[in-house]
Amino acid sequence: MKTLAVLGATGSIGVNTLEIVAAFPERYRVAALAAGSNLALLRQQVRRFRPQLVSVANQAMAQELRQSLAGEKVEVLAGVEGACACARLAGVDLVVSAIVGAAGLLPTLAAIDAGIDVALANKETLVTAGALVMRAVADNGVRLLPIDSEHSAIFQSIAGQRPQDIHRLILTASGGPFRNHAPEQLTAVTPQQALAHPNWAMGPKISIDSATMMNKGLEVIEARWLFAMPAERIAVQVHPQSIVHSMVEYVDGSVLAQLGLPDMKTPIAYALAWPERLPLALPRLDLCRMADLSFCAPDLQRFPCLALAYQALAADESACVVLNAVNEVAVEAFLSGAIRFTDIARLIDRMLQRHGGGGLATVEEVLALDAQCRRQAREQIAFLV
Ligand code: NAD
Ligand code: MG
Repeated sequence: MKTLAVLGATGSIGVNTLEIVAAFPERYRVAALAAGSNLALLRQQVRRFRPQLVSVANQAMAQELRQSLAGEKVEVLAGVEGACACARLAGVDLVVSAIVGAAGLLPTLAAIDAGIDVALANKETLVTAGALVMRAVADNGVRLLPIDSEHSAIFQSIAGQRPQDIHRLILTASGGPFRNHAPEQLTAVTPQQALAHPNWAMGPKISIDSATMMNKGLEVIEARWLFAMPAERIAVQVHPQSIVHSMVEYVDGSVLAQLGLPDMKTPIAYALAWPERLPLALPRLDLCRMADLSFCAPDLQRFPCLALAYQALAADESACVVLNAVNEVAVEAFLSGAIRFTDIARLIDRMLQRHGGGGLATVEEVLALDAQCRRQAREQIAFLV
C-alpha cells in the first residue's frame, strides 16, 4: 500500500491521478490533497478519498471548506504553507506534484527536503530552480519520477542503459492547434482556439503553452535537469499524431522510444507504480490502424517561444526564471483577452533581452527574481493595452 499526497488535486493531472487511485484501492491511499479554488470538486474528493489533511488557496476558502465539511475528520489549511504541509506530511510515500506554474516550487521542495519521493508533473519547478532542486534530490536521496509524457518516455527508454552511451534525447511535440497556421494568422487567434488542443485534454496554462510551443521549450529545460543532459544534445521533432512520446538515440545509432495512445493516465500510472506497471483498462495502441506517423523539424520562426527557451537555457539559470515568470503572466493576459497570441513571445523576448543575468544560490533568490519579473511583465502589458 502506497500513501500519496496529491498537490493540484482538482486539476487535469490531479483528477487523472485520483482516478487511478480509485481503480487500485488495494495499492494506493490518499493522505493529503492540495488545490487552488475549486472547492466543490475538492469537497467531493475529500468525501471519496478521506485524506487527513487538505489545503486550499487562501484562509477564506479554508474557512468555507471547513464549514461545509463539518463532521468529517479532516484538517483544512491554506496557502503555500498549507500545500507545503501536505507535501511533507508524515507517512506519505509519494507526493504527486501537479500544481500549475512556479506556485508548485516550494511544495515540491518541501517534499524533497522531507525525504519523500516525488512524481513530478509540475515542469515549472525544474525550469525555475533545476540546479537547486536536483541538488536537494541528491542530498536527500529521494526519487524524482517524471509524469510529463515526454520525460516518462525518456525515463522508460534509458532504463538499464549506461548514461555515457546516450548520444542525444529527442523530444516529440504535437505542434499544437496552430501547427499549420501561417504567421499572419497567428496574430488573430483567440484563447478558445488556442485552448483546443488536437490530442491532449489539459489545464488552460499548459494548453496555451502547447499552442505557442513554449511547452516544448519548458520541457527541454526540464529534460536538461532530469537527465543531466546539455541543451545541445536535446532535440525537438514535431510529430502531430502524439504516438511516439519521445526517443533516446544511442552512440551506436540505435534509437529507443516509448509509444502509446495519448492519455496522461499511462505516464501517471508509471510514476505511481515504478518500477512496476499497473494493468490499466485503456484503449490499446494498434499501429495497423494508424494511417501515418510523421516527423519534421519545428519552425522556430513561427514558434519563437521554443527558440527563446533554448536561448534562456544557454544563458543561465536566472534567464530561465525570467522566461517562466514572464510566460506565466503573458499566458494569463492572453487568456483574459488583454494581449494577442503573438505578444506572448514578444514580451518574453523583450524581458530576456533586458535581463542582465546572474547566479541564483537560494530558492529565496529564485522567488524574488520571479516576483520582480512578474511585476515588470504586468507593467509592460499595461503599456501594450
Ligand atoms: P490544471 O490547471 O488543470 O490544474 C492545476 C491544479 O493546481 C488545480 O488543482 C489548481 O487548483 C491547483 N493550483 C493552482 N494554483 C495553485 C496554488 N497557488 N496553490 C495550490 N494549488 C494550486 O493544470 P494541469 O493541466 O493539471 O497541469 C498541472 C501541471 O502539470 C502543470 O505544471 C503542467 O505543465 C503539468 N503537466 C500537465 C499535463 C497535462 O496533460 N495536463 C501534462 C504534462 C505536464
Ligand atoms: Mg509533455
